[in-house]
Amino acid sequence: MRSTTVLQRALRASRPLQQAYPALQPHPHSLPVNGFVGAIGNTPLIRINSLSNETGCEILGKAEFMNPGGSVKDRAAWGLVKWAEENGKIKPGGTIVEGTAGNTGIGLAHVCRARGYKCVIYMPNTQSQEKIDLLRMLGAEVHPVPAVAFDNPENYNHQAKRHAERLDNAAWVNQFDNAAGNRQAHIDTTGPEIYAQTSLLPGGLQGFICSTGTGGTLAGITHSLKQQSGGKIQCWLADPPGSCLESYVNRGTLDREGGSITEGIGQGRITDNLSPDIKYLDGAIHVPDAKTIRMIYHLLHEDGLYFGASTALNVVAAKELAVKLGKGSRVVTILCDGAYRYQSRLFSKKWLESKDLYKELPEHLLKYVAL
Ligand code: PMP
Repeated sequence: MRSTTVLQRALRASRPLQQAYPALQPHPHSLPVNGFVGAIGNTPLIRINSLSNETGCEILGKAEFMNPGGSVKDRAAWGLVKWAEENGKIKPGGTIVEGTAGNTGIGLAHVCRARGYKCVIYMPNTQSQEKIDLLRMLGAEVHPVPAVAFDNPENYNHQAKRHAERLDNAAWVNQFDNAAGNRQAHIDTTGPEIYAQTSLLPGGLQGFICSTGTGGTLAGITHSLKQQSGGKIQCWLADPPGSCLESYVNRGTLDREGGSITEGIGQGRITDNLSPDIKYLDGAIHVPDAKTIRMIYHLLHEDGLYFGASTALNVVAAKELAVKLGKGSRVVTILCDGAYRYQSRLFSKKWLESKDLYKELPEHLLKYVAL
């Protein structure tokens, strides 16, 4: 009798398991993808167990921090570079120039390395050191500039535009008002992915909510979900202090007050990404920083999830929307990026005290304030 190998025995033993689960399909990522840009998208939905159990609703997060550059902005970065290539704005070996709070820059720096372009980034000097360091490590030329309003010619976006005009073979990709590069990436990918993923679930999807920086994510997903569901899925905006969009959506005014610890979100105007779709929004929820900081620590303690402030704000708003929509409702939000990019601030006692937020953390969460 021929002896069997360990591998043959293992294969034989696994056969009944495969027969028991005939419907199992290969995960999209079990097939090779084409380099950095091929790995963007097809992110899972993560059930936020602590909040789903507490509310009797299902609160799901689209895991955009699992993109290869670590944030939701990888999708826009690739959309913007593709736009520049397809519209003859850049030729091989050229330079991509952009104004960004950080995550678009990080996505662009990756895409530029992968496609042979140089990358120049202008950003407000209020952003975390981790993001500036990472951009430089990815080979980008970084210009931190004073954080001034959009109507000031020294605003980081206008400086980026002028820089591109001074160079040969360079494109300013203009994430705030280039809907064909930014919003379109979410109409083509994020929106259809969320619709397909939730259509598989009994009851489907009742609500979507997320915050806005450029507006590409919210507008693109809203456009897609409203179109695919015939308007049935409610789409809402989540907004931090200092932004005027909650006031615009709820009351038709452009009021803003205060500032926020969140980075990359909040807006003082209706960008070109937002303008075609903002009328489809069903409402907006304002989230104060005290709720956001508590949620960062809650998600870590209860769910083992380590997220940045824009994500925590999104999750606070998703929980509030689910409660509004009623028991059993299902709501999706965006898990934008991990806390790794902000940890020297968000997990520092001194920094939290400087923002008057340390006192907002309940006793059992203080052990996580490790810096
Ligand atoms: N969260 C983070 C951390 C971001 O960097 C950004 C983009 N600035 C957003 C959310 C918002 O995404 P969008 O620009 O598509 O509105």
